[in-house]
This record gives sequence, C-alpha cells and structure tokens, in this order.
Amino acid sequence: MQTCPWSCVVWDLDGTLLVRGGVTPVEGIEAVLAAWAAAGVEMAVATSASTALAREVVDDLGWSGWFVHVAGSGPGVVGKDAVVAEALLGAGWTPDAHTAMVGDSPADVAAARRHGLTAVGVTWSGTPVGALAGADVIWSRVPS
Ligand SMILES: [Mg+2]
Repeated sequence: MQTCPWSCVVWDLDGTLLVRGGVTPVEGIEAVLAAWAAAGVEMAVATSASTALAREVVDDLGWSGWFVHVAGSGPGVVGKDAVVAEALLGAGWTPDAHTAMVGDSPADVAAARRHGLTAVGVTWSGTPVGALAGADVIWSRVPS
C-alpha cells in the first residue's frame, strides 16, 4: 500500500468510497482506509447525504473506527461546501497543505479548493477527467 501523502483526508462517500448509487465499497478501498488509519492518517467523511444516513452506512460497513468524523447534510448544512466545513470542524482540523479532499464530482473539487485542501479527483465511478478540472491530483484507480 502506498503511503498516504497527507496527514488528514476528507473522503466523499458516494462514487468515491462506495460504488455510485449504492452501499457497496469500491473494490480495494477498504484496504486503503485500513492501511492509512493504521499509519495514523486522520480521516473524515463529507457527504451530501444526510448525516444520519451517512453515519448509519459507515457504521453498518464497520468503518466507524477509521473516521474521526462523518459529516453530512442537515438543517442549515446544505451543499458540499457546507458539509466539508462541517467535516473540518468536527474533525478539528485546520486546513493546510497536509490535508486533502478526495471525491468523484466537480463539487468535491470545488469544495476542496474553496477550503484550501489538496483536491484529489477520482474517475473510478465514471466521472470524465475533464469534469474534474482544477483537481491537484487525479486518481483513475484506487491506490494499491
Ligand atoms: Mg460522490
């Protein structure tokens, strides 16, 4: 497993950690999460799904121990910018060069940039690389 280049990572859920539109983990992603958590990388989830649903899904998958915070939409928290802000607040992180956001949508890239995070765009759910313009890094496959 490649070493995580960052000390803190915010993950999008749908289409990034989970196969788009469902609750099946993307192949190989659990090995990444396990390895990085074991290496001391702090991780959080920021999803547009409701916070309650996101936490239920993460818990049902047995992933709760890997994340210091799971942030989703809720009253007054709508849109990716807002949920990323919630994730950073909940995790207690001050964004810097050592913090990244990994996601499969243009909104993830935009939110990462807005919050001063390294933007990692993933294409394994079918997002065309051109739609992730502005990302600092593009991952076409899960790190191994
Ligand atoms: Mg997504």
